[in-house]
Amino acid sequence: MTRKVSMRSWPAPQVPSLPGTAPTLRVLDTRTGERVSVTGSDANLYVCGITPYDATHLGHAFTYVSFDILVRTWLDAGLNVNYAQNITDIDDPLFERAEETDVSWRELADSQIELFRTDMETLNVIPPTNWVAVSEIIDPLVDEVKELIEEGRAYGLTEDGRTDYYLETSDDDYRSYHLEGMDLISVFRENGGDPDRPGKKHPLDPIIWKGVKDGDFQSEGARAGAWRPGWHIECALIGRDYLGETVDIQGGGADLVFPHQEMSLLHMADFHPEVNVRGQMNIGMVAFEGHKMSKSLGNLVLVSRLLQRGFEPMVVRLVLLGHLWNSDWEYTDEDLDRAERRLTRWRRVHHTGGAGAAELLAKVRERLSDNLDTPGALAVIDEWAETNEYNDDRDGAALFKDMCQALLGVSLS
Ligand code: ZN
Repeated sequence: MTRKVSMRSWPAPQVPSLPGTAPTLRVLDTRTGERVSVTGSDANLYVCGITPYDATHLGHAFTYVSFDILVRTWLDAGLNVNYAQNITDIDDPLFERAEETDVSWRELADSQIELFRTDMETLNVIPPTNWVAVSEIIDPLVDEVKELIEEGRAYGLTEDGRTDYYLETSDDDYRSYHLEGMDLISVFRENGGDPDRPGKKHPLDPIIWKGVKDGDFQSEGARAGAWRPGWHIECALIGRDYLGETVDIQGGGADLVFPHQEMSLLHMADFHPEVNVRGQMNIGMVAFEGHKMSKSLGNLVLVSRLLQRGFEPMVVRLVLLGHLWNSDWEYTDEDLDRAERRLTRWRRVHHTGGAGAAELLAKVRERLSDNLDTPGALAVIDEWAETNEYNDDRDGAALFKDMCQALLGVSLS
């Protein structure tokens, strides 16, 4: 794994190596509706990260734990995993929250990044190889924006003495299979886009730089809050600079399909025409009390709150693994009860049973290789646990424990 200068992440959990070989993982690609797999010995993953202004809720946790299962399945198959993830620590919601709560945006971002770091470590998530904050890449971003302007591929719109810059796009840029039938302009508008702004060459042209009067490209961090880079160009630049020519999976939540990820791909193609993004995974949305969990609705279930209520981190992790990564689901407290019973049973069988763990490992690998079917993997373990509870096999029990730790990130001790 190549590591460039990037944000301090969190300590990596132990990943025991397992005997035997894993079948090839095939996952569903959002953009084509087909299954994709890694073909070489490297697996390169880009995942859209957090905007650090609210703590980790179950929706975030579901996203990052789902990609963690992807990483673990790749590692089990012997692949060399390169994983880049961004932190959007320069963005409007962050500035707004900072102003509301009367703290500096930097302080707010740092405190929220620290919370996320703790939650990820507690949930046994393997950290990205490169965790990159946008505040760390302002200079290369400015260079890219200037280059796009010089090459005539971007244009500025001036209002009240400040200029915003847009990438020029055309209808041909929006013809992917998965966008068919989507009302792109409405989706763009609903997600903070500005299709109606007078002067835009194409309504969907994405912003690459939001300017400020007399100071478009000043890069001192202290001045951020006035200007900012576009969000899509940020992910494209990090993907290019930290992963190189092949991105096996571009990942994020299902709410990022359009415009964010599509626009990032456009930018990436602009910067680096030879870059090959082979597949895209979008993690389902988690609802609570009838609505998608969101800060604005105030229906967040925070990971830290569940832990404060006394639930073990592994129970929270099992709640998340109980749902297929590309499905939307609604969280209820019943999820916690089910996961708690499951963890108790698995621990018991680890102490008193264990026979047949090698066959179980093959079945679990089979389930995971089939589009990361974690609910299926949990079900085969439950079935095995039921019939192997009291047949005391110490080697089998040790293998079972290693398998839970390595493939599912569930620690039984
Ligand atoms: Zn992104």
